[in-house]
Amino acid sequence: MEVDIKEFKTSVASEVDAQRQQLRELSLKIHSNPELGFNEVKAAAWLTQYLEENGFTVERGSCEIPTAFQASYGKGKPVVAILAEYDALPKLGHACGHNLIAPCSVGAGVASKPAIDQFGGSVRIIGTPAEEIYGGKAIMAVRGAFDNLDAVMMVHPGVYNSATSRTIAREAVEVEFFGKAAHASVSPEMGINALEAMIQSFNAINSLRQHIKDKARIHGIITDGGAAANIVPEHSAGTFLVRAEDDDYLEELKEKVINCFAGAATATGARLEYKWEDIRYAAMHNNMTLARLFKQNLESVGRKVHLSDPIKSFGSSDIGNVSQQAPSIQGFVAIAPEDVLFHTPEFAKVAASEAGFRGLVDAAKALAMTVVDLVTNPKVVIKIQDEFRK
Ligand SMILES: [Zn+2]
Ligand SMILES: [Zn+2]
Repeated sequence: MEVDIKEFKTSVASEVDAQRQQLRELSLKIHSNPELGFNEVKAAAWLTQYLEENGFTVERGSCEIPTAFQASYGKGKPVVAILAEYDALPKLGHACGHNLIAPCSVGAGVASKPAIDQFGGSVRIIGTPAEEIYGGKAIMAVRGAFDNLDAVMMVHPGVYNSATSRTIAREAVEVEFFGKAAHASVSPEMGINALEAMIQSFNAINSLRQHIKDKARIHGIITDGGAAANIVPEHSAGTFLVRAEDDDYLEELKEKVINCFAGAATATGARLEYKWEDIRYAAMHNNMTLARLFKQNLESVGRKVHLSDPIKSFGSSDIGNVSQQAPSIQGFVAIAPEDVLFHTPEFAKVAASEAGFRGLVDAAKALAMTVVDLVTNPKVVIKIQDEFRK
């Protein structure tokens, strides 16, 4: 059986090679037509069309999100999901390489078909819009998109090969101060300065920052700082992100951050209003049983792969919310040297390069081979579930 499975993996890998031309075209088309979160109309249309042409049953507009989709092949358990992201960034286009993620996932799904035909189970490609700005997966998680899945996988392009990723919990808050306008020179004593309240908030947060846990982050911008230099600003506004390694500490930190704003309001006499975003990006729980399978498979196509994310830095992603609903991994595949940073024009360039495309193909092969592992080995599926329940 061992030999058969190895042979089977080689054959699904060649199914990825057979799609090279189509996958390259898809990735380049999405790259040159960047669409922002929830507006990924073209990308969703191209991807679902490709899946339909390849025998998948497609549901468009899943979870009442027009650019989300689910495409299934096969029946019954195990249900293996592969997630596709295809949103771009404002101004920078595909500077996070999501144009590679979607074709990789779609290619892996199509390549898995012979395994499903032979061994049963099903593979589901879930199109998850708006990772960058709105946390599309967090919304889809609440609406049940990831219920009853036996395994969830996706691969993000990056600067090293890894079977897992490290992401931390995150919540955003919109803050406003309301003061009182006055001539800034003629009658400053009549004014209440909303901008000063915002500046004091930044200073209080800067002081707080030396006394927070290692992996926590607080950062913000001012979105309204007043209308003119000769008017005492009657209104100021800002957006802040608060991040922490786990949900409990995030709650604690959120309260401390609000105290910074409240203190500034008291000090200046401005009135504070704030609203936490509905969506929280949850911290990632990597399923290590699933990660080990994926690592072996990505290594078998000739890459050196870290089991754990080797870089000490971390952001937040809505894949964390998925990992709370089902056993999940988000791997990374190297497409650029380590000095190329995410969300830069340089990363957008490599996302359309030969190295980017090689990453797409290798990752798709490893994903499809992991589907083979899952549909041929019920014991490992149980082990993945057991780890998830812990
Ligand atoms: Zn990004
Ligand atoms: Zn990304």
